[in-house]
Amino acid sequence: MIVLSGKEVGASLETDLQREIGTVRDQGVEPCLAVLMVGDNPESQTYVGRKVKMAAKLGIHSIDRHLPADTTQAALEAEVAALNADPSVHGVLCQLPLPPHLDAERIPLLIDPAKDVDCFHPHNFGLMAQGTPRFLPCTPAGILAMLRHYAIETAGRRVAVIGRSNIVGRPISLLLSQKGWDATVTVCHSRTAELAEHTRRADIVIAAIGRPEWVTADMIGDAAVVVDVGVNRVDAPDRPRGYRLCGDVAYTEVAAKASAITPVPGGVGPLTVLMLMRNTVQAARLAAADAAS
Ligand code: NAP
Repeated sequence: MIVLSGKEVGASLETDLQREIGTVRDQGVEPCLAVLMVGDNPESQTYVGRKVKMAAKLGIHSIDRHLPADTTQAALEAEVAALNADPSVHGVLCQLPLPPHLDAERIPLLIDPAKDVDCFHPHNFGLMAQGTPRFLPCTPAGILAMLRHYAIETAGRRVAVIGRSNIVGRPISLLLSQKGWDATVTVCHSRTAELAEHTRRADIVIAAIGRPEWVTADMIGDAAVVVDVGVNRVDAPDRPRGYRLCGDVAYTEVAAKASAITPVPGGVGPLTVLMLMRNTVQAARLAAADAAS
């Protein structure tokens, strides 16, 4: 059984990215990512902190724009418009969730698609769905990087994806069924009948559900590859923080049956932020090419 390590894949991606950043810099462009956050949600602060830290590590300039919890919709939209208009900014994202008085669905629509490094804008999602992506959504791109790094064959293989969100389940299903990956993909969700029949038949199971340790060994075929996207907090009074992190897969029992599995933490998670950096570099490269033409 192979443990698919996000740290190992991440280290190799970082090396590639540093080379790409060097090339963009040689063209006189300083890649820059702007991260908008509203309010003081501690989990959001952690995620924003990771993004800013990784940008600094790679030499990507970042703007951390932290707005107060009572920011109005108009003020937030004005921030987005200002970042859209700033030619030195290549990537813009708004950390979700937003405080409830704000319209979280509207914000991704307002980010300039050329700077939409999360790939949430319908224009970019559409390009991705058609197989001509400008950017790849970050977590699905991390899953693909993981599969590629460990040379896990997908062509002609049966993949079961559990979850159909626009952030993970749906885009990874689309991508893996496209030419080049050539998998036969089944998308499972909360209304899927006999879900375990689909997952047991699959060569690769991707779990993106948001339910702790929900996928059990009896739901997995012998020697399946299991990619666990879930990140869940479970009460653990004996731990210093009072909780532990776990995935959507019951790791120990599934690992005993699988041929390969991603751990949580340390699997797909570390790759998402690196893919955000890759998209930022891609946005900078495209902006430079645009300016030159
Ligand atoms: P989401 O938007 O809540 O979607 C969850 C999906 O799981 C939905 O499609 C839902 O089905 C399906 N689902 C829920 N309960 C189910 C059940 N009992 N049986 C079958 N399907 C079920 O979540 P998400 O944003 O995709 O995130 C999923 C997980 O991945 C979460 O734990 C999240 O924290 C994690 N995540 C990790 C990363 C990373 O970087 N590692 C990035 C993003 C998300 P319906 O559509 O029918 O409701």
